[in-house]
Amino acid sequence: MPEVVELLRRSRPEPAASPAPAGRESGRELWARLGELGALRGLYRDELPERGIVPGRLGDLIARTEAREGTGPLLSVCVQAATVLPLLAEAGRRGPAAADVARRMLDGRSVVALAATDSGPGSDLTALTTHAEETSTGTVLHGTKRWITNAVHADLLLVLARRRPGPHFTNFTWYLVPADDPRVRVEAAPSPYFTGAGTGHVHLGGVPVLADGPVGGAGRGLALFARHIAVERLAGGLWAAAACRRALADTRDRLVGRGLWQQPAIRQRFAAALVRTRQLETLVQTLGPAVTAEHDHTAAALVKAAAGETADHVLDVCAHLCGADGFAVAGMQHRRAEAALFGIAGGSTETVLASVADHAEALLARPHEVAS
Ligand SMILES: Cc1cc2nc3c(=O)[nH]c(=O)nc-3n(C[C@H](O)[C@H](O)[C@H](O)COP(=O)(O)OP(=O)(O)OC[C@H]3O[C@@H](n4cnc5c(N)ncnc54)[C@H](O)[C@@H]3O)c2cc1C
Repeated sequence: MPEVVELLRRSRPEPAASPAPAGRESGRELWARLGELGALRGLYRDELPERGIVPGRLGDLIARTEAREGTGPLLSVCVQAATVLPLLAEAGRRGPAAADVARRMLDGRSVVALAATDSGPGSDLTALTTHAEETSTGTVLHGTKRWITNAVHADLLLVLARRRPGPHFTNFTWYLVPADDPRVRVEAAPSPYFTGAGTGHVHLGGVPVLADGPVGGAGRGLALFARHIAVERLAGGLWAAAACRRALADTRDRLVGRGLWQQPAIRQRFAAALVRTRQLETLVQTLGPAVTAEHDHTAAALVKAAAGETADHVLDVCAHLCGADGFAVAGMQHRRAEAALFGIAGGSTETVLASVADHAEALLARPHEVAS
């Protein structure tokens, strides 16, 4: 299996001088292209998503795509490759529909959105109101999901819904629903950011679920979410590190070009941001295997917290050092705003710091290991 980056290089000519503008290719198109090339299979151990992603290969794909395709298409790919596809592959052991969808995704023939965040606070999934109703003809879903990547161009929606009232861990289940059902209404999220990610709000008005029913088992919704969101958090760390590195390189080029690179105050500020970036890279490399092989939540929380804070700091420095040019279309100020995603989507910095605090004793006792 050729390396993912090699497949990407072969499939598209190198850009002339600057990276591709955001949104040149939609997330759906990029997903299809990666699937056709076998590059999605190549991300997983033994080409099997249920066996886990190989962190180095995901890092290569992210670093390459981040520079060439823009944030929207990469967001679309990351959510599916890190979370949706492994979750469905694991659930496929219990249901043929999930297994079939996972096979189609692996070839890039199907796009599936992960619809967890509800109309209420996304930071508290146990408060979600989207619910499953048992009718004489089967299970149907009612509710609203907001800020869902891939929603506007998905074939299927993987929806987290409650099956009983109350916050108990086992009250939630995943279901698959066809995105083109007339009882599904999707509106694009009005935003100047993440062009091509297909982010939208989804309204479910009594939508029948696919024949298999619960995906991965009734009442296992939050358990499966916790297990698979860990890898998405690692993907966020790899992506944040790549985004910081590229922002610093572009900023340094600009400072050199304008004769500002020798200014001591500028060098100090820049160097501090570079140190933060290297710290993030090291953390991601050190903890990546534990996250992908063991779905280690604490390791993922450490990475996610560092990614959010580092990206905010580094992109803020870079945007400031770009002066007025930072405000150009797709300039560093735009990149700074998009990088704020690392501290919000998939769990805000505050919520992952709470997980780190929960495991403080174990982390302090064993500095070279991570305890789940
Ligand atoms: C571009 C984009 C793509 C997304 N894609 C998806 C997707 O594919 N699927 C999906 O399900 N969701 C998706 N989301 C939603 C994302 O996961 C949520 O935005 C996130 O979980 C936070 O939820 P919220 O926006 O409702 O913020 P809220 O829960 O309203 O929180 C707002 C802020 O309050 C603070 N806060 C919240 N809780 C606490 C706390 N306990 N302690 C301290 N401070 C707190 C934090 O600063 C937080 O940012 C996406 C979001 C964006 C922006």
